[in-house]
Amino acid sequence: MIIVMKQGCRKKEIDALMKKVEKLGFKPHAIFGVERTVIGAVGDDRDRHLLEVLEASPCVEKLVPILQPYKLAGREIKKEPSVVKVGTAGFGGGRFGVIAGPCSVESEKQIVETAIGVKKAGARVLRGGAFKPRTSPYSFQGLEHEGLKLLARAREESGLPFVTEVVNPEDVDLVGEYADMLQIGARNVQNFPLLRRAGKYGKPILLKRGMSTTIQEFLMSAEYVMSEGCRDVILCERGIRTFETATRNTLDISAVPVIHERSHLPIIIDPSHATGSRNYVEPLCFAAMAAGSDGLIIEVHPEPQKALCDGPQSLNIADFTALMKRLKELSKFDRVKL
Ligand code: PEP
Ligand code: MN
Repeated sequence: MIIVMKQGCRKKEIDALMKKVEKLGFKPHAIFGVERTVIGAVGDDRDRHLLEVLEASPCVEKLVPILQPYKLAGREIKKEPSVVKVGTAGFGGGRFGVIAGPCSVESEKQIVETAIGVKKAGARVLRGGAFKPRTSPYSFQGLEHEGLKLLARAREESGLPFVTEVVNPEDVDLVGEYADMLQIGARNVQNFPLLRRAGKYGKPILLKRGMSTTIQEFLMSAEYVMSEGCRDVILCERGIRTFETATRNTLDISAVPVIHERSHLPIIIDPSHATGSRNYVEPLCFAAMAAGSDGLIIEVHPEPQKALCDGPQSLNIADFTALMKRLKELSKFDRVKL
């Protein structure tokens, strides 16, 4: 249920109403909009009628039931797009953020060199996997804790905040201690204990769409994260499974306008995992920007041919730099702030 507060109501009144919502067995989420404040009361739909008593409160304008199944992630509760900030990067509401870095952290030299290189090119957030969810148990699984330390080192050297994946609910505290944003990967998009645990942690979350999740399921996963109190969720379309085998996955570019219509959350594109080939990264970056996406996450490695993970889809630093120049040109036409 959305509780629309009267214009000009005070913080004290909002707090008191939130307490009432809690007493009725619902979780209150206040959203301070440009014009007025609304409180999302989220809980068991069968008890919705209990909230009706609030309509009589002097500071309440009206109650509006939320029809979308994703209550906090949907547009009904928040009309304006959310802007998620990570360091100096902004995602959403006309801000276009670029995240770049290797698939996995391999050594200090590799991650520091990449961080400095991508920063110079204009990336605002560094990426790099320390815990790698691999299809084969025999593939490189990541440097784990050591990888997190190396990412922190790269942040020190470059000044870039970093995002890294967490694959296990028990690792959220450890990863959260180091990372500026936690990534939940495609394979874990419906790992509900992980979504809940990460949502509770309090840092921004980069949530990747699963290869077989519908947009509705994807938004419900975001809802899990948000229902634990996290407001800063960035969605990422990274390609879905189709009959096509010429590319690793099929980029569902239509996810961008569809998600913008249904949700206030920013949506970015991962052209690297979508295609599996560096040759296709640049055209899909252009497509992403033209379609209105709120940013990109791109795999970059100083020596892609030697990468332990996802080398064929990684750009080298020179190619990434050239790509960023072209994106900056395009951003002028698209009127987004890169
Ligand atoms: C990654 O970002 O390195 C990754 C494993 O991505 P995804 O979860 O989209 O496959
Ligand atoms: Mn990868």
